Amino acid sequence: MSQHIKLFIPGPIEVSEKTLRAFSSPMLGHRSKDFQALYASVEPGLQKLFYTKQPVFFSTSSAWGVMEGALRNVVSKKVLNCMNGAFSDKWFDVATRCGKQADSLKVEWGKPILPEQLDAKLKTGEFDAVTIIHNETSTGAMSPIYELAEVLRKYPDVISIVDTVSSFSALPIEFDKLGIDVMLTGTQKALALPPGTALFTVSEKAFAKAATIKDRGYYFDFIEFRKNGESSMTPSTPSIGHFYALKSKLEDIEAEGIDNRYARHQANAKLTREWAKSRGFELFAQDGYQSVSLTCVKNALNIDVPKLNSDLKSKYSCMIDGGYGKIKGATFRISHMGDESTENIKKLLGWIDDCLKAQGK
Ligand SMILES: *Cc1c(COP(=O)(O)O)cnc(C)c1O
Repeated sequence: MSQHIKLFIPGPIEVSEKTLRAFSSPMLGHRSKDFQALYASVEPGLQKLFYTKQPVFFSTSSAWGVMEGALRNVVSKKVLNCMNGAFSDKWFDVATRCGKQADSLKVEWGKPILPEQLDAKLKTGEFDAVTIIHNETSTGAMSPIYELAEVLRKYPDVISIVDTVSSFSALPIEFDKLGIDVMLTGTQKALALPPGTALFTVSEKAFAKAATIKDRGYYFDFIEFRKNGESSMTPSTPSIGHFYALKSKLEDIEAEGIDNRYARHQANAKLTREWAKSRGFELFAQDGYQSVSLTCVKNALNIDVPKLNSDLKSKYSCMIDGGYGKIKGATFRISHMGDESTENIKKLLGWIDDCLKAQGK
């Protein structure tokens, strides 16, 4: 086995021994009763985390599969892509690559998407769908999803697709109460599982819209997922290990208590932000809209980020992230999602301090 480098990058993140053991359970036939029982044992716990009575689906793909699939399922007129970072910007590109009419609501990286901006765009009546990334992992900015949902409720003909890849289970995002239409997440970020599965849920309104769309394909077809889901099965062979791993993770979440989990994420975020500011760094995301699951630090001290990371790796067998896309090096990101205790984050920040001393910072 290669050396274990503990990942404090915002995905994939560290996976516990317990989860890994569960992930490597023996295989089952995916049309067997045992598999159906396993599926049925996981779905209710996920419905709780999604805060929904709708079925939850399992896509054997990374999150992008469902992000692209959602566009194919619900967009017939024109989609509005809210853009404020690398992942949300990419969604616009993906929409046009799928041959969809698309327009953007673009704000500067580090800023959230705000309700009045969304309202101004939707008011035009041009759109039948909108994509929003709740927590822009590239910038550490978290958009006010409850306020955005209030705007969305004014436009019942617009199907909303919300990405919660790096925020799901780190704070409450109540699908039914929000009244949003598609909500998706990945497994390798806030849930601290191996990569390879995406989870999503779909409103009745979005199912009805999908039924009117002829070229929605097969692999990500929402109607196909629903039909199979009714007998606790997936349309095609799923990553079975993920079901075992999810079962194990849901037990962990239950044991910790969901409110304790949320509070732990808040505490980790607060600690990391305060550390950054006390060392003379700044936060990249706008005040009041900083993510609870990761911190994107503006490199105001002009440290050598690649050197910091190679020192962390050789001295402490861990890694942070050196910044994403066009803000690589100008920022660095510390992930404090998943299973990380506040004690672990304190330790990590101490290690970073130690490595920065070597740079005279
Ligand atoms: C990581 C990430 C994605 C992409 O996820 P994949 O699993 O790599 O497809 C999408 N959205 C957000 C917010 C992310 O953080």
